[in-house]
Amino acid sequence: MKKKLIAGNWKMNGSIESNDALVRAILAGMGAACDVAVCVPAPYLAQVQMLRHGTKLDLGAQDVSCHDAGAYTGEVSPAMLKEFGVRYVIVGHSERRQYHHESDQLVADKARCALAAGITPIVCVGETLAEREAGKTEEVVKRQLAAVVHTNGHCISEIVVAYEPVWAIGTGKTATPEQAQQVHAVLRAQLHAATEHSDRVRILYGGSMNAANAASLLAQPDIDGGLIGGASLKAPDFLQIIAAAAATAA
Ligand code: PEP
Repeated sequence: MKKKLIAGNWKMNGSIESNDALVRAILAGMGAACDVAVCVPAPYLAQVQMLRHGTKLDLGAQDVSCHDAGAYTGEVSPAMLKEFGVRYVIVGHSERRQYHHESDQLVADKARCALAAGITPIVCVGETLAEREAGKTEEVVKRQLAAVVHTNGHCISEIVVAYEPVWAIGTGKTATPEQAQQVHAVLRAQLHAATEHSDRVRILYGGSMNAANAASLLAQPDIDGGLIGGASLKAPDFLQIIAAAAATAA
């Protein structure tokens, strides 16, 4: 059985003072039964790298450039992330697809560049409410993942996928465990057709996962962890989600 992964996405939140308290509380309360990461804003990578150094808490970033170096103002390269001990990077979050017009191909390229630098991309896919209501959920997530599969070839078993229905992100509306499992099974089948190592790929659920609903979501056979936004900013909530993930391994 794969170890579950619980990854916090802090988005554009935090301060030197609040990060210190949050990371110390997570470190004090987390065990080793599941993998845990925090994906922090770029300016705080160095701070959180120092706080987590020598612990089992992994460091993640929220975006990466697909250029190595040069005249790309504002971008951060995979090699730079690597220098700060980054293990995971979120690519294709719906907020970046929506507000920064990131295409499926750009997301796939970012995943490729991360992998080339030895960083695991957490590739986000998910449908909007309008797409779900039009019966297009499968079509959308398969299209988004297909670009990543096509661009990354045999490396595809090295990625993490996060199914994040856009209508559930930050809205308090969560996919039911059955709705989430249905989409995860579709993604698993797609990965299975692409690689004989598809069982290695962790498929996380993200979208208003919280202390109350985590256990039932994480009990689903194809849900291998969670990508947590709002609830990752409160140590007690995040720790309860971690505990729910750990309980599935017991
Ligand atoms: C996210 O932004 O990745 C996310 C899942 O947010 P929230 O948990 O707040 O819905």
